[in-house]
Amino acid sequence: MNTYAFPGNIEEDILQIAARQIPYMRTEWFSELMKENERMLLDAIGCPGGHVMFFTSSGTGAMDAVVENYVMATGKAFIIDGGSFGHRWVELCRYHGAAHEVFEVPFASDIDYDLLDRMVGDSLPKVFLCQHHETSSGQLFDLKRISAICQKYGVSLVVDVISSFLAEDIDMDGLKIDVAITSTQKGLNLPPGAALVFLSEKALCTDFRHGNYYFDFQDNLCNMQRGQTPFSPATTIFMQINERMKRNMAAGIRNLVEATRRKALYFREKCREFEWEIPAETPANAITGFYLHRNGDKLFGELQKEHIFIMPSGRKDFFRVSHMGIQNEHDLDILADAIRRIEMM
Ligand SMILES: *Cc1c(COP(=O)(O)O)cnc(C)c1O
Repeated sequence: MNTYAFPGNIEEDILQIAARQIPYMRTEWFSELMKENERMLLDAIGCPGGHVMFFTSSGTGAMDAVVENYVMATGKAFIIDGGSFGHRWVELCRYHGAAHEVFEVPFASDIDYDLLDRMVGDSLPKVFLCQHHETSSGQLFDLKRISAICQKYGVSLVVDVISSFLAEDIDMDGLKIDVAITSTQKGLNLPPGAALVFLSEKALCTDFRHGNYYFDFQDNLCNMQRGQTPFSPATTIFMQINERMKRNMAAGIRNLVEATRRKALYFREKCREFEWEIPAETPANAITGFYLHRNGDKLFGELQKEHIFIMPSGRKDFFRVSHMGIQNEHDLDILADAIRRIEMM
């Protein structure tokens, strides 16, 4: 099987970690593993003085937890809705009855930052919610410009970096990000099942709201002081995070981001060759989103027959190929040729 979705192809020895007997987690060994995970993750995102909370859920669980614990404790939210993931922030705020305003961004477009500056200045929210990479289109937003606007108006910045962590340069302290979220099957390229919330030193001083027993920030932070989660963790995934991050730190985050960027650029050359349009104004490294000319209704099924997965979408003839997993230029040649063959069927 070859997968260009989330996760992408995972190293055999990292997969094998989950194929062995599972050690008990209320132990010194597991506490040390989790503390080491936290240190490596904070270093990787540029927030050495912060803390990480580990939840056994997908990324949306962490988004939900952030709205309940942080947004509702802090005040009115201002949301960038640039696709289905931005829209998820809107739905979560609606669901919880959190005060919010929405700034819509057309599919695959970048934000009009001058307009955004004026809108935030008029709205004067307390919290800014956005994605770094809107994975539904492949569009990357400019966190430097967003951060500057937030600082100008004293707005706390919360960023969903689920599909940009380890795929783009992120300096959480430098960008004054208070809360960042990721999950295991995206940048970490591990099995789905765990979500991570990064809190800056400043965000740690928040008087968090208590609205959800399982996802309670104070309880989770308190437990992480001894390297534990309040409830049964997905032990093997946290062991896989440990191995993955050890390798990432040894390789260097910059090099990792550069390697992903090169894979993306290589595949985009193929897209140019076959004239598949890439709509993203500023394409992110993690995926390439592109339009096929024909047979979009057949592509997903036909590729599956060859044991290849890419990601379809609700948009006609629009597909996404992830660059996070193991893949080399030869693999991408084969993938592009397979897509071309099906397009020409
Ligand atoms: C994948 C993803 C999520 C979370 O989706 P889940 O279905 O909960 O895994 C949130 N935001 C972005 C930008 C994503 O790419």
